[in-house]
Amino acid sequence: MEDEFFFDKKNQKTFVPLPPNAIIGIVGGGQLGRMSALAAARLGYRCHILTPEEDSPAAQVSAAATIGDYEDPAALRAFASAVDVITFEFENVSAAGLELLTSCKPVRPGPHVLRISQDRIAEKTFLNAEAGAATAPFAPIETLDDLRAAAARLGLPAILKTTRLGYDGKGQARLASEVDLAPAFARLSPKPLIFEGFVDFECEISVIVARGGNGDSRAFDVVENRHRDHILDLTLAPAPIAPQTAAAAREIALRVADALDLVGLLAVEMFVDRDGRVLVNEIAPRPHNSGHWTIDACPASQFEMHIRAVAGLPLPLAARHSDAVMKNLVGAEETALWPQILATQGLIPHLYGKKEARPGRKMGHVTRLFAKGALPGEAGIALALGPLGRQNFMTRASAAAK
Ligand code: AMP
Repeated sequence: MEDEFFFDKKNQKTFVPLPPNAIIGIVGGGQLGRMSALAAARLGYRCHILTPEEDSPAAQVSAAATIGDYEDPAALRAFASAVDVITFEFENVSAAGLELLTSCKPVRPGPHVLRISQDRIAEKTFLNAEAGAATAPFAPIETLDDLRAAAARLGLPAILKTTRLGYDGKGQARLASEVDLAPAFARLSPKPLIFEGFVDFECEISVIVARGGNGDSRAFDVVENRHRDHILDLTLAPAPIAPQTAAAAREIALRVADALDLVGLLAVEMFVDRDGRVLVNEIAPRPHNSGHWTIDACPASQFEMHIRAVAGLPLPLAARHSDAVMKNLVGAEETALWPQILATQGLIPHLYGKKEARPGRKMGHVTRLFAKGALPGEAGIALALGPLGRQNFMTRASAAAK
């Protein structure tokens, strides 16, 4: 199959469409893989999941799964030999693992994209130098002296983060003053670290871009994201921000996708600072939680765009037929509201098939649609979320205070 449809294996650059019934391999078994697999099924593809987890959310809705570690060459080989093209919902596969996959089958997005997005220093360096995208000031940190020098040069407050494998606020420490430096360093080292200037943001936003092998790209509307304890809680689509700020954010996201020569989907998370400047926080070359609203509010969701880009199909417009609010269901307490959610008119429910609602675990989400242009203000959104809006609503001010 790959020779027929993707004959230029070396530079992964051939874009004859993947025919119906072909098999898309997805690395990772979580909800992003699950929703990608559902979109793939609608386009007539089968998905094969690689995951270490038995009965994963993605495998539950896919044709097949290889259960094995992401670093196990035998598992990677078995997986690659069973599929026609490979993509990701979990992007932290090692360089050796990626090389093995790339030597077997077309990998989209290409391994160079994953290498950049896996490492916060490579990512910020790339964004500043090659994509012309501003970020918070940063410095690589190896020693406590490096940290002291960075604090003196770039100022406090700041955030110390591990350069790799950090997500949802894991592997981070807030540095408010000098006394925080040594304990934060002791807690996070010896992992490679990055010092980031603290952005006093007005709000957090993101843009999801799909880009095909022919360079065609599509950007969904800019959304506002509110986090609780570093985990996404709410997404508002479109972001209630100035039109010129939204236009700047879209332009940045499209530029980053082009600079990466992306084939696939890219989420670009950004801050809008108090002066209205847009700074990129991080990029993720896969579907993203802040794009879940597109399933219900767009004719083609981020997951369909992802599958189409990876399969070499034409990309439809990233149009939005409704305004939307997406609320995550995190942990046991919110998930316990499921019966009330199902009984509330207008809430569109999504559950990911996870058995155990551990603290901080994303179990599902709900979307509420509004007529285009009729996204209500804070109080209206809280009301529209029914049982989820009552005690639990994250305003822009409370999100920024976290
Ligand atoms: P991250 O893991 O980098 O996505 O960070 C998780 C969350 O921490 C972000 O969504 C922000 O709310 C906050 N955060 C991360 N980096 C910064 C920064 N440089 N300045 C201010 N807040 C930040």
